[in-house]
Amino acid sequence: MSEHLAYVGIGTNAGDRTGNLSRALGELRNAGTLAAISSTYRTAPWGHLDQPEFLNLVASLRTELSPHELLDAFLAIERRLGRTAGERWGPRIVDLDLLLYDDLTIADERLRVPHEHLAERAFVLVPLAELDERFAAMRDALPESELAGVLRVEREGGTMMAPEFSLAISERVRALADFLSSGDAVRVRIVRENDEIEVARRQPYAARARRANDRTAADATRLRFDTIKADLVGIFHLSRPAPSEGETFDADRELGYIEALGIRTPVHSMGAGRLVRIGAADESPVEYGQALFSIARG
Ligand code: ADP
Ligand code: MG
Repeated sequence: MSEHLAYVGIGTNAGDRTGNLSRALGELRNAGTLAAISSTYRTAPWGHLDQPEFLNLVASLRTELSPHELLDAFLAIERRLGRTAGERWGPRIVDLDLLLYDDLTIADERLRVPHEHLAERAFVLVPLAELDERFAAMRDALPESELAGVLRVEREGGTMMAPEFSLAISERVRALADFLSSGDAVRVRIVRENDEIEVARRQPYAARARRANDRTAADATRLRFDTIKADLVGIFHLSRPAPSEGETFDADRELGYIEALGIRTPVHSMGAGRLVRIGAADESPVEYGQALFSIARG
């Protein structure tokens, strides 16, 4: 099967709009691999003007689905997220539009690609041009008054984290992990409308190991630590019975598995050792290369 590049426009102006974008992106992962996600933009409503402003973004998706299969997937996502029929031009939980599909042109009764209104809509062209330079000239040809109505959602509080709220959970978690591992912060708490997350950094491995094992500092530094990392993207699960931090095993043990596309890939301890740290929450999305377990040897 060959892979195609599709650009998807996502808009929402009802309910928990930031959450709707995150959920739509999460659902899109079932249709392919997200290659890039634009910034989020606030846009004045189209059509009926007396409704809340939209949040819009554009994502690019590598997919093996055909254009019509993608359209079906989008309609299913819209339904799942709670969009009801008959709200054209009115408030909507989520709207997914297929903007482009490779260089294909399609015009049938269900589907027009490139999307019919692509060239007229600032809220499509501004995020699209962010991902694909070819559309910069088309964007710049829009009247200034149109472009002025599309505002990039600003980062809040000067931290690196606010824009991640437009992304799906796994990106947020990764941004938080980067933040925690790069700076001096030990605890980060972000509170937004309908959304709250708090992350605290654990004690360094060596200090935990010393305490758990009651070893002398000299002993502890002689320990070797292995990090078992995710070798694919998916949902991480702890094996049952669940391993716990501090547990020792004298042979190889299956500690967990990663589920992707319905397939479970086990994660092993790679031999004997003591489990010092479980790095990912049970049933959470994990990225390629993310640390799952830290194991003390020797
Ligand atoms: P709009 O997205 O124009 O605001 P709707 O989402 O209500 O309006 O329109 C949905 C219909 O538009 C779908 O049932 C679909 O058949 C049709 N359509 C035509 N081309 C596209 C496209 N490229 N992407 C999404 N829907 C499309
Ligand atoms: Mg639509």
